[in-house]
Amino acid sequence: MTQTLATPYSAALEGRSVARLEAVSKRFGQTQALEGVSLEVRPGELLALLGPNGAGKSTAISLLAGLRRPDQGTVRLFGLDPQDPKARVSLGVTPQETGLPGELRVYEVLNYVQAYYPSPMPRAELLGRFGLEGLERRQCGGLSGGQKRRLAVALAFAGNPRLVILDEPTTGLDVEARRSLWEGVRQYQAEGGTVLLTTHYLEEAEALASRVVVMDHGRLIAEGTVGEIKARVGLRQVRFSAPEVPDLAGVSKLERDNGTVILYTPDSDAVVRQLVQKNVPFRDLEVRAVSLEEAFVALTGTSRIAG
Ligand code: ADP
Repeated sequence: MTQTLATPYSAALEGRSVARLEAVSKRFGQTQALEGVSLEVRPGELLALLGPNGAGKSTAISLLAGLRRPDQGTVRLFGLDPQDPKARVSLGVTPQETGLPGELRVYEVLNYVQAYYPSPMPRAELLGRFGLEGLERRQCGGLSGGQKRRLAVALAFAGNPRLVILDEPTTGLDVEARRSLWEGVRQYQAEGGTVLLTTHYLEEAEALASRVVVMDHGRLIAEGTVGEIKARVGLRQVRFSAPEVPDLAGVSKLERDNGTVILYTPDSDAVVRQLVQKNVPFRDLEVRAVSLEEAFVALTGTSRIAG
């Protein structure tokens, strides 16, 4: 096999994970924010980091982005120290809140940010992807909340990075704005980009993520595709309409929503057989996998995710 001579920079980028935490711990005073966390972001994936408030997601991101140092363990960005400018030039980050200078115009902010990067994304492409066309001359202070957020997210992509870290990118956006932002992210990933995302909209992770990591109390508690996370919880949902339901074996939880009965069970076949055997006059029977949200609640015992 022929080996090409590579510069130290490209050698560091080749054949490695994009970003990695290895046995990382981080404490703030009495709070153990991360405890022995190992996490790898693989090339070309969209990894969603989920967990309830205080789980350690932002701390993990700040370490990967080189904004903080771990107490223990190793952090690598493109195989390098994340504070190394050679690694940082290939990283784009949108923090939870981005302060945009109100007097600057959109194109001035883009000029300012893009000047840091050797091969920035072409301006028209960036504006098009994030629905910012026609706003270039607008002062940032005059943008709507949704437009500001789209600009903040666009800035993460401005330098044509290999990895984009998005910390709750669509918080506060309406459904339509959220979906159009997802399109920009999908397009980037389709072209080979890698994304690490935190979100408190589980349908966002369900729509975008190729892999999900669930954190709780500073540790990783589950990892896999959205389907694997749901399967790991091992429950299915059985829904039907019926005036009343007799006692059924193997039901973990029963909810009622108007006339609809919702059962969670590890064995939906057995539950349906019982409904038939017990002559329950059910209608509109549906059996489906639990949603990511339901799986999340089962794993962490909380529906309060972040924000
Ligand atoms: P998440 O992003 O999942 O909500 P964080 O990483 O922000 O979680 O926080 C993890 C834990 O560390 C929380 O208990 C939080 O209060 C604590 N923490 C985070 N940053 C600091 C800080 N700068 N000072 C003190 N405690 C912090």
